[in-house]
Amino acid sequence: MALNPNVNTVLGPFRMKRYSAFAIAREAARYHQGWERAWASPEPKAHYDAIIVGAGGHGLATAYYLGKNFGITNLAVIEKGWLGGGNTGRNTTIIRSNYLQDPSAAIYEKARSLYETMSQDLNYNVMFSPRGVLMLAQTHHEVRGYQRTAYANALQGVKTEFIGPEKVKEICPIMNIEGPRYPVMGGLWQSRGGTARHDAVAWGYARACSDMGMDILQKTEVTGVTREGGKVTGVETSRGHIGCDKLGIVVAGHSGHVAEMAGFRLPIESVALQALVSEPIKPCMDIVVMANTVHGYLSQSDKGEMVIGGGTDSYNNYTQRGSFHHIEETVRALIETFPMISRLKMLRQWGGIVDVTGDRSPILSKTPLENCFINCGWGTGGFKAIPGSGWGFAELMAKGYSPLTAEFGLDRFKEGRFIDESVAAGVAH
Ligand SMILES: Cc1cc2nc3c(=O)[nH]c(=O)nc-3n(C[C@H](O)[C@H](O)[C@H](O)COP(=O)(O)OP(=O)(O)OC[C@H]3O[C@@H](n4cnc5c(N)ncnc54)[C@H](O)[C@@H]3O)c2cc1C
Repeated sequence: MALNPNVNTVLGPFRMKRYSAFAIAREAARYHQGWERAWASPEPKAHYDAIIVGAGGHGLATAYYLGKNFGITNLAVIEKGWLGGGNTGRNTTIIRSNYLQDPSAAIYEKARSLYETMSQDLNYNVMFSPRGVLMLAQTHHEVRGYQRTAYANALQGVKTEFIGPEKVKEICPIMNIEGPRYPVMGGLWQSRGGTARHDAVAWGYARACSDMGMDILQKTEVTGVTREGGKVTGVETSRGHIGCDKLGIVVAGHSGHVAEMAGFRLPIESVALQALVSEPIKPCMDIVVMANTVHGYLSQSDKGEMVIGGGTDSYNNYTQRGSFHHIEETVRALIETFPMISRLKMLRQWGGIVDVTGDRSPILSKTPLENCFINCGWGTGGFKAIPGSGWGFAELMAKGYSPLTAEFGLDRFKEGRFIDESVAAGVAH
């Protein structure tokens, strides 16, 4: 069947067929000839009501909720590479909401709760797996810190608990809790935290956006922002000028660059964050464990690979790749607590460019330009926030105010009103 990428042959323009068990059976019976493209690849229009720069999870989620919650569908998401090819497709997919400060807990818990129903909402299986996330306490300082977070979470309505070492061993038997340097003294346990399939989150949002008639323009780089009288009029791109009434900049590690095109500066640094996976092995661990004192964390993918990550590179850079010293540092850090990983062969590693603010909290904000908004600074931990961020940022762009984003404005850096999450987000994801 010849496919016109912009037209669904059954329901008219942009209406995608629903994925279902019935659809799988139907396509199996006809040699899978009837599947249509998941999203369209249109030519850019001259002008849109809104443009989002960056087709990572946050940009796509923003577009989706602008359409779903506010009816704004004359919208383009502009991506210089392929959608989900930035940090969204490179992260280790930990989802949790056990942050200390109230504004953080609110947006991350909103996101976590949206993840619970995302597959049904998007009609796309994002493989959300609420297997539980455990943050190990391996010093007295961490014990006190996580107990404090558990109390804060109780007041915020976020379900977490501080558990002792015996319970840690029970839920994660492969762990050595009696390490000579860093014995496990307990942990902060969030039983409804977990993981999701990162690509599927981007693809699911993209498909839903395309279904609403939005244009996702891949391989289209924004090279300039055109302005007039304190307002944005459009963007220069590698495919020509595109006009817009509102602009949302959602480009993670490239936020400084794109903000400079728009004529303002950001209090942000870009730095590489790396991860690696081992060869696949039999199921041995069904939770996510983070060990923040030694800078390492671990989970097992559905394929059986051990997914391992650590801290950011200790110098600013824009490299999207891994390095040998990182494997050595991260694996060495984890071996005392997880002796079995010393026998694993490492399969591959990679890096992403994360955007880090001084207080380790994101920026979801108006900018000095009246109709231009910025969403960045998610640093090492923004995958978990994608739906909550998209929800709040869409509201900010549509109405000029969102209770979810109100505390995350750029003005907090002028006013010294920081949202200090350096314990929760400086290293950990
Ligand atoms: C190794 C690693 C592990 C991580 N682990 C976790 C984790 O376990 N849990 C968690 O919550 N978070 C984690 N993160 C962080 C998380 O991945 C990010 O916070 C999140 O994906 C950011 O999403 P985004 O949509 O803002 O950015 P991105 O996904 O990076 O999307 C930004 C997009 O903007 C595009 N762009 C840039 N400049 C331009 C331009 N000029 N024109 C057009 N397009 C442009 C880029 O190509 C990119 O696709 C991890 C990150 C890395 C790198």
